[in-house]
Amino acid sequence: MKLASRGLLLRGRRLYGSLSTSSSIQQSLNFLNGQRVDPINKDKSQQFELIAPATGKVLRTVQSSGEEDVGNAVQNALVAFRIWSAIPGFQRGQVLKRASDIIRSRLDDLSRMEVLDTGKPIWEARFDIAGVADSMEYYGGLAAKMSGDFLQLASGSFSYTICEPLGVVGGIGAWNYPFQMAGWKSAPALACGNAFVFKPSQLTPLTAVMLGEIYKEAGLPDGCYNVIQGEGPSGALLCSHPEIAKISFTGSVSSGSRVMEACAKGIKHVTLELGGKSPLIIFADSNLDNAVTGAMLANFLSQGQVCSNGTRVFVEKSIKESFLKKLVARTTKMKIGDPFQEETTVGATICEDHANKVLKYIDTGKKEGAQVLCGGERVYPGPELGGVYLSPCVFTDCLDNMTVVREEIFGSVMSVLSFDTEEEVIARANDTEFGLAGGVFTNNLQRAHRVISKMEAGSLYLNNYNVYPIGVPFGGYKKSGIGRENGPQTLDYYTQVKSVYVEMNKVEAPF
Ligand code: NAD
Repeated sequence: MKLASRGLLLRGRRLYGSLSTSSSIQQSLNFLNGQRVDPINKDKSQQFELIAPATGKVLRTVQSSGEEDVGNAVQNALVAFRIWSAIPGFQRGQVLKRASDIIRSRLDDLSRMEVLDTGKPIWEARFDIAGVADSMEYYGGLAAKMSGDFLQLASGSFSYTICEPLGVVGGIGAWNYPFQMAGWKSAPALACGNAFVFKPSQLTPLTAVMLGEIYKEAGLPDGCYNVIQGEGPSGALLCSHPEIAKISFTGSVSSGSRVMEACAKGIKHVTLELGGKSPLIIFADSNLDNAVTGAMLANFLSQGQVCSNGTRVFVEKSIKESFLKKLVARTTKMKIGDPFQEETTVGATICEDHANKVLKYIDTGKKEGAQVLCGGERVYPGPELGGVYLSPCVFTDCLDNMTVVREEIFGSVMSVLSFDTEEEVIARANDTEFGLAGGVFTNNLQRAHRVISKMEAGSLYLNNYNVYPIGVPFGGYKKSGIGRENGPQTLDYYTQVKSVYVEMNKVEAPF
């Protein structure tokens, strides 16, 4: 079925019978003080076109936020912070739980908008959006439990600690999980009593502002959650604003390094969720079908544009041929096409530039001697689907020093390598500047935990891959980042501890 003729429905209206005239897409995309607003910045050289990845058509022009826009958002947030931080955690949690209910009730609308923005298959988008509802519910519950410690000291004196919010937190997101990044960052930030200003990726600006409307409906005071749109320079303005207490950033290592530098100048807290080149180790004693499924989950979700992907697949030599046979048979059956169709498993790559980067990596892989077993080509699924669609690629005969094995590609490109011994594969798996994730498939219990304990990464999977339950912290070692998202630990990254010493006796001094 053709995208344009299907006429997607959003809250009873056609989302895009004609993409470029949809009112919800044309509305203001900045969100300040509880409402959508246009940026004050009118500099035409700071505008960019928003293109739907699925169709390749221009949806609208977006104006980047300038200094005044960022300043207004932060000032509004500062005022709101004083109100919000004075509300007890239990009541803050109630707001988040209401937001969670609203998200669940609008799952379909939100998912469709996310597909329009990202080009990912609709069932994946639903999963992502539901994950944000989980996050609101989870941190809504934890907000009520936030408390400090009590410590008994000598002679009746004592000390207690108060867990306080940081102030105005800035969030900056990448384009692969736009709604999830807005939610995963704002939910714990707000639960802790902070106010929040979010800058989505310029490639996916549509759903962060919808989250603002949901928060407002849930009862969040105006100004607690704000959105500023823009490219890198708008993000840089947020990082350098003196009233921003912390930046939570998701993106590439190079941008993350610039963000950290800007935060260092202002001595601001920083969380960095960066790139990866994660290893997936498959031992001969594992269940082969599960291992193949795991390798596909580790490489082919969201067109391979997933930070935690296990793109270096190390397979024990004795099972390599049977593993590859099953893998290729299943990979070539993946359904490439219209991301709004339920049966589609490969949607559109985010944009032409990124697709060209992925194709260039595939070309480099071939030139360096890796062998393509399947995919790695541009396909044309239909006349209405003018975006870039790439068939999932499996490389074999890979060596550790090849470019495709060392660098993050951020596309559906799996590099299969073989190994002989446990010791050897652990050393090779850890031989990378990244440390975001990793996986092991084995049915040997002791080996499983022994190998996992030696892997240098923040998020590890045993006999599965790329699952993110909200209660489990997620984040990287080495150049893959600093700090965590999800799980109770994340509250520590959005709070500061105030220690209070209470003297119960006469004050003693040596003078
Ligand atoms: P990117 O670094 O190009 O952009 C990310 C965001 O940073 C965008 O919003 C961009 O506008 C902004 N930005 C760019 N320069 C900036 C600056 N100097 N100051 C402030 N903001 C700036 O990354 P991308 O292409 O959007 O995303 C892909 C990368 O993100 C991959 O490396 C991927 O692995 C990583 N990623 C990591 C995680 C994680 O949780 N670890 C999740 C998703 C994506």
